[in-house]
Parts: sequence; structure tokens; C-alpha cells
Amino acid sequence: MRILVSNDDGYRAEGLQRLADVLRPLAEVTVVAPDRNRSGASNSLTLDVPVRVFPFGDRMYYVNGTPTDCVHLAVSGLFDFDHDMVVSGINDGANLGDDVLYSGTVAAAVEGRFLGLPTMAVSLVVRQGRHFDTAARVACELVMRLQRSPLDSAMILNVNVPDLPYEQLRGFQVTRLGQRHKSEPVVKSADPRGRAVYWVGPAGEGADAGEGTDFDAIARGFVSVTPLQVDLTRHSALAEVGEWLAGRAP
Ligand code: MN
Repeated sequence: MRILVSNDDGYRAEGLQRLADVLRPLAEVTVVAPDRNRSGASNSLTLDVPVRVFPFGDRMYYVNGTPTDCVHLAVSGLFDFDHDMVVSGINDGANLGDDVLYSGTVAAAVEGRFLGLPTMAVSLVVRQGRHFDTAARVACELVMRLQRSPLDSAMILNVNVPDLPYEQLRGFQVTRLGQRHKSEPVVKSADPRGRAVYWVGPAGEGADAGEGTDFDAIARGFVSVTPLQVDLTRHSALAEVGEWLAGRAP
């Protein structure tokens, strides 16, 4: 099996190294990752400048682009072989609820959706411990499980791991995405010439964080596994919008 590993924190991030190391005994691992932290890049492609690829180790490459660029290149012609799955991470921070819309970690997994096996985004809900070792072990276990018993190939698994020693994890839970409150306001500041600059504020706390959500699983010490899909169609609204269009004034 060939596994492509990427992330959005950049090729020097601790989580990426840990993830690649833990998967190497299971598969032939190729790493293609951004040259710097591109957290929040979502599913963006770089179209205004050429993208370059630089080796930094054995089957390890960094790219002056986004996580989506990295995976897109890797599965669309950079190599003369195909990968079987993409594992993205380990992100330095949660990707819970609405976070998945902005996440480059999740985007890298999404970009691998046409490969043969489900893809996986792994995030550590970082607190004090920074237990990347725990998240790496969880990723390894899930990949082994996929090798033994494959899931539907069109699936993206969004995995969040509590920042705990492995022995303190309470287990695995399948979850739905919760929702966050509106994020904190932008932080206004000034550059050295007195012109206004802004920083995007931190994400809001969990709003829909009840039973069954990813937030709840993490709060109770479980690994959260949310199956995602790319289809954004609001199927339940097709009839309503159809009637609305039919009844429109000429
Ligand atoms: Mn990140």
C-alpha cells in the first residue's frame, strides 16, 4: 500500500513528522506538504504563480503552495505511481464543527477523495500536553483497521484526538459535526505608519456541542471520528426551492 501524507502546518511541523514515522511500518509513505504554515487555506489551489516542488528527505517533498496544491500535484502527475490513500495531519489544533470549512488539514484529505480508499484528516485538540504521540498511535490504528476492513471509498474521515496520554483515552466514537458560536471579532491594530491592520479573531466555543457531536466526544475523552462528504447540496430544500421558482412572478 502507498500512503500520501500531507498537512497544513508546513513540512517542518511536529505532527507531520510523527504521522509519517508511525505509518512507515504499514505502507510506503510519501510526504508532500506546504513550505510554511497554511492553516485556514481550506480547499484553495494556487493558480496565479507556478508551484515548485523541493525534496527534503527520502520520498519527502515541500511545495510553495497550499495543502490542496500538495495533494493535487501528488495524485495528478508528480509521481509515476498512484497512491491508495491520503492521511493528513497531525494538525496542531482541533478541527471540530465549522472548523472543517476553513481547515487545510481536512482539505488535503478531501483532495484525495478519488483514490481507492477513504482518506483521513487527523487533528490533535491541543491543550497543555501536546500528545502528538497519542494522535499518531490513533492514526496508525485507524489505518490498520482500514487495511483489514475497507470502508466505502468515497468517504473522508475527520478524526480529532483529545490531548491525553494514550492510556487515558476512553475509546472511539462516531460523531456528527457540531457547530461553533460566531468567532471572536477581528482584532484591530496599526502598522508602524499608523495604518489600520486586522487579525482574524479566534474561533468561537462550541454552540451545538451536545450528545453525538464531535465536541462532546472530545470533551468526554473519546477519539471523535466524523465521516464527511463533499456534496454540499441541500437535498431537503430541493422541493421547496423548486416550488418557489415555479411560483415566481413573470
Ligand atoms: Mn493547521
